[in-house]
Amino acid sequence: MVFAERRIIMRKLLENDEAVKEESVIGEHVSVGRKVAVRKCDEYELNRVIELVADIYESSDGPDPQGKKVLIKPNVLNDTPPEKCNCTHPVVIEAVVRYMQSRGATVMVGDSPSIHLKNFRPVKIGIEDVCRRTGVSWVEFRDNPVEIKLRKSKIKVARAVLEADLLISLPKFKNHELVYFSGAIKNTFGIVPGFIKGKQHALHQNRRSFSEFLVDLNEAITADYFLMDGIYGLEGPGPANGFSKKVGLLLGSTNPVALDIIATTIAGYNPVDIPTTSEALSRGKWLSSPEEIIYDGPPVESLIIKDFIKIPVSSGRNISLQFLIRRIKFLRKVERRPVFIHSRCTGCLKCVSICPVNAIKPHPVKKNYIVLTDSKCIRCFCCSEVCLDNAVEIRRKLFGP
Ligand code: SF4
Ligand code: SF4
Repeated sequence: MVFAERRIIMRKLLENDEAVKEESVIGEHVSVGRKVAVRKCDEYELNRVIELVADIYESSDGPDPQGKKVLIKPNVLNDTPPEKCNCTHPVVIEAVVRYMQSRGATVMVGDSPSIHLKNFRPVKIGIEDVCRRTGVSWVEFRDNPVEIKLRKSKIKVARAVLEADLLISLPKFKNHELVYFSGAIKNTFGIVPGFIKGKQHALHQNRRSFSEFLVDLNEAITADYFLMDGIYGLEGPGPANGFSKKVGLLLGSTNPVALDIIATTIAGYNPVDIPTTSEALSRGKWLSSPEEIIYDGPPVESLIIKDFIKIPVSSGRNISLQFLIRRIKFLRKVERRPVFIHSRCTGCLKCVSICPVNAIKPHPVKKNYIVLTDSKCIRCFCCSEVCLDNAVEIRRKLFGP
């Protein structure tokens, strides 16, 4: 079982067991289920959400939390009000906390936002209040992270993730400019604390490479259960600057790939266009084909949101074409890229601090004016993700810097 394996690995890591460091935690493959449970839910009404969380969890074989230390990891991209739909809604978090407590678990909540400064607290999003009301603690992921080995590299992850018996991931139903949809596989990225996250974009400079890394990370640390907040989702330019969209669903599974396939189908994507999903399917660790999913819920076809504003899927699945686009100056202009809207810029410089390749800097004279060196830009879209003033649009721009 995952929790037992994780606890053994953690103990050995803390004992500085060299063999474990060498063998790594990769290979912690477990036989995850293939069930996905989906239930309709119109509003963030706590008692109703608790009922549905219980139903979904039990219908999709969520692991028994009795007597366990459970870490709940929502998607806390930033600290913005719930209506912005950037993060997992606090009612969903509270419902899962209360359900786990009712089943005899000791619960903690934690995540690492995009810009993870010391003493970050999720106040505006309402998680601080949830913690206070339910008597659980918010865990600081930056404290004493632990290095683990991935397929091709090493990375530090939050210690709390390895110390917990069960890891419950709560992704948000929302778009993401880089990997198109920020589902279960993407939500695991938050276990990487602080600015270590940003460095991964410099190491994995395109959609495909970054998706491979995300799947590597999920292989090393697979959450024990995923419950997606799809009551309201985020369409358009996600993960931060999109538009709230009523989806009216809660979705759960022990299988991140199966969950992402169902969610992205409902959002109107072809699930195999999602690079994290296609990479995970090609490895076959969780699922080899969408046909293997055991689905429990209203007919998926009836749930598809025909007018959900999707991220345009790049036609350049062809690797050699993408290679050419990246290297020929004019062709780079036809790519979707960050465009800075100076009239909206407040000069906070969050974009400058997060850019992993130093492709942007403040204008030496003009106030609230960011200058992009396009030849350096790797199209990770982190600048757009952290700009809370909608001053970074992702679009094609044929002329100008
Ligand atoms: S573009 Fe956005 S993130 Fe960057 S300095 Fe301006 S307001 Fe801040
Ligand atoms: S400018 Fe924006 S999209 Fe380009 S590399 Fe920097 S953060 Fe990424």
